Amino acid sequence: DPNMAERSADVIRTLLQHGYEAYWVGGCVRDEYMGRRVSDMDITTSALPEVTCSVFPKVVPTGIKHGTVTVLMEGQAFEVTTYRVESGYEDHRHPTEVAFVRDVKEDLTRRDFTMNAMARGIDGSWVDPFGGREDIDKQVIRCVGDARLRFREDALRMVRCIRFASVFGFSIALHTWKGILSERDTLSWIAMERIRSEFEKIMTGPTPLRGLEMFLRSGLYSRMKAPFPYTGHDVPIMEAIHRTAPEHSSIRWSLLLLACGISAQEAERLLRSWTFSNKQREAIVKLLALHESYAQVNEEKEKEKQSGRLTWIKLVLAHGAEAAHSWLQMQTAMEWTGAATVSPAVMEQLEGWLQELQIRNLKDLNITGSELLLALDKRGGAWLGELLGELLEKAAAGLINNDKESLINEAKRVVINNEGS
Ligand code: ATP
Ligand code: MG
Repeated sequence: DPNMAERSADVIRTLLQHGYEAYWVGGCVRDEYMGRRVSDMDITTSALPEVTCSVFPKVVPTGIKHGTVTVLMEGQAFEVTTYRVESGYEDHRHPTEVAFVRDVKEDLTRRDFTMNAMARGIDGSWVDPFGGREDIDKQVIRCVGDARLRFREDALRMVRCIRFASVFGFSIALHTWKGILSERDTLSWIAMERIRSEFEKIMTGPTPLRGLEMFLRSGLYSRMKAPFPYTGHDVPIMEAIHRTAPEHSSIRWSLLLLACGISAQEAERLLRSWTFSNKQREAIVKLLALHESYAQVNEEKEKEKQSGRLTWIKLVLAHGAEAAHSWLQMQTAMEWTGAATVSPAVMEQLEGWLQELQIRNLKDLNITGSELLLALDKRGGAWLGELLGELLEKAAAGLINNDKESLINEAKRVVINNEGS
């Protein structure tokens, strides 16, 4: 984003004009060197936070104790952080002390990996005291300083290490890898929310399997607060992850859970403890539940020679059209790796039926519960939900018309039948 680069350069220029030092730092410097899209441009400066606040008209003191001020420049936000060092990580996650320092190189020593410990001036100059560019050229993730110490300070760095290795396709320097093996027990101190956020980047990256396998070899799965029962032995299912688009992260997670033999019910619990959002958790659980139901119903269907269409419609109504779409996408991905449980011909048919399906939930039904009560002259109860469900299935399948009269007639027929039996 050239606009973001310009506005952040304005921020740096302003600090320089006031006699302070200022640089781009961290992820944006790394990403630019690697030719990756830059998401946010962080700035590091010798100016104290109060100074930064007074120099710019619009600021938000986001983390003033830690030296971070958000500067708003023509609608864009930039984090400007005073050169600082940290110490006293007694809980393996948070420093208890922050001290502001004079030299940008000192600030860079507190950063996790050599590639993240570089600063760049607006004149194009580099501050790269740990050979970050060289490591990027060699495609290596390496801790700044002693790996054991750095992981002991903040255990999340172990997860970040594997995340970067996975997303960039880099290897991990031997000393850094040994640091993970030696300090891995401290991972239990880290909140699942922060681990999940790093994991999400592995899962939506170009080669999740790389990160997942590194996680296994590092022994980190079992050391998390909420351990992940990773087996990953079902190679065809695992490999299907690479056949799905990264933005379909729910499908990727479903495949991972499936490959590890985790049921929809178990997934529900696991994803809760992994602090997934309700929305994402529900999408994954519904997809897995649909997968399980299809396998089950399919067996029964073959025994009873029912129509496949009606069975499918029932499943779509029960789990939702979105889950059905995702499930079809998941099967397509599994088709590539020999893990699909449905043949391409059947897939095509299911897809067609899904597309044809106009009535997908109770809102699409041209009658409400209260209208039914009135027409039947009955009092409400659990039976009403069941009746509506039955009408929905029949209308969706085209067995009855979706107008009030037909729906009421059918409702009366069902009620009389039920009372007769
Ligand atoms: P991403 O591209 O995912 O944003 P990033 O490296 O920019 O990766 P951020 O969390 O945005 O990650 O952090 C910005 C910078 O802060 C990093 O580049 C690194 O210099 C430093 N940093 C972040 N987390 C840590 C940590 N746990 N320990 C030490 N330094 C860290
Ligand atoms: Mg970043």
